[in-house]
Amino acid sequence: MPAELIEIEEARRLVVERVSPLPAEQVPLREALGRVLAVEVGAADPVPGFDNSAMDGFAVRAADTASASGEEPVTLDVVDESRAGRPAERPVGPGEAILISTGAMVPEGADSVVRVEDTSSRDGRVEIGVAVGKGRNVRRAGEDVRSGEAVVGSGTVLGPAELGVIAAVGRDAVECTRRPMVCVLTTGDELHEPGKPLGPGGVRNSNAHSVPALVERAGGEVVRVETVPDEPTATRGAIERALDSDVVVICGGVSVGEHDHVRGALAELGVEEAFWGVALRPGKPTAFGTHPDGALVFGLPGNPVSAMVTFMLIARPAIEALLGSNPGRQRATAILDEDYAKKPGRAHAVRCRLELAEDGWHARTTGEQGSHVLTSMLGADALALIPTDSGSVSTGERVEIELLP
Ligand code: AMP
Ligand code: MG
Repeated sequence: MPAELIEIEEARRLVVERVSPLPAEQVPLREALGRVLAVEVGAADPVPGFDNSAMDGFAVRAADTASASGEEPVTLDVVDESRAGRPAERPVGPGEAILISTGAMVPEGADSVVRVEDTSSRDGRVEIGVAVGKGRNVRRAGEDVRSGEAVVGSGTVLGPAELGVIAAVGRDAVECTRRPMVCVLTTGDELHEPGKPLGPGGVRNSNAHSVPALVERAGGEVVRVETVPDEPTATRGAIERALDSDVVVICGGVSVGEHDHVRGALAELGVEEAFWGVALRPGKPTAFGTHPDGALVFGLPGNPVSAMVTFMLIARPAIEALLGSNPGRQRATAILDEDYAKKPGRAHAVRCRLELAEDGWHARTTGEQGSHVLTSMLGADALALIPTDSGSVSTGERVEIELLP
């Protein structure tokens, strides 16, 4: 291992400073969920586009209702109807009312709406039992979005609300950054796909499923998942083929063992190493470098928890930077509800379950924290990040947490 392990924050900085956002492409709105907006969306027209009724009732001139009460209602002539999508054909004159539905255009001449509950109608006339002020039950044009207003900024990850707002301003397609193409390589002679028989010493290839899933969650597009034997030529060949993608994520074989060939292969392929070795547990033998043709290459430890943790803490920021998204890290603090033993020297990423109490969030570990105990990821809400220099943490102490995707 190198003499000097770098901090998680330093690793992230070294990654992100080597990344520039990918170009934008036009995406139909129906396919834009989870995509990152490259160009802000503005509204050409106001929303709502016209003054409309907030209630089912009667559009009136407020002045006509001034003397109305339950005992002495005012009677108006009902001269037309305004329905949603079908405006009235004539204006409201003095002494007149127009039957109106929720969302329908307020007719010319009217300035307020009396709820149907405050009226009774018969023979083409309506009795109004309350006085309404000007503007009562009217939603004004532009109350939601003003004409020319920017509604969704660039860098936003498009969720259900954004898609709705973009549709509301009339856009059926948006400019999004292209999704980064990601190749995932898992290394190890011991690896077997689930569903296949497991020979002596065989291990299920869990990273080939958890890591691509993390890539997709981060907004990347998994173009290939390949398993590579512990052999130098095969390792170099697989990495070389993967270098045409934007990001290469290699799991395992990155350490210093006799059968770890990743670092050697990367050097031979001209990948410029930015770092190797992070002061993190799990996840010390984590490497990152760039190929002159542009690919970002991550070498993650093979242990299933380490691979997931280092992907989330160190590789995911690269995908976000390629997407030009700025979700910010989902950082918070929580009160630890158990003692946690630790020696200074490396930061620990502890899988935790969170619970909300009166004094805020509380964290409890998911149990045994070995880097091979993949079930410790099940039900984990957050990683508690115990700093490098920290020793053991006691029950009741506040710790920093990073929420999991
Ligand atoms: P390595 O980083 O290659 O030294 O692997 C460390 C440990 O993780 C070993 O016990 C491997 O068997 C295990 N491992 C490596 N890759 C995978 C994988 N893709 N899925 C499950 N376990 C793995
Ligand atoms: Mg290995």
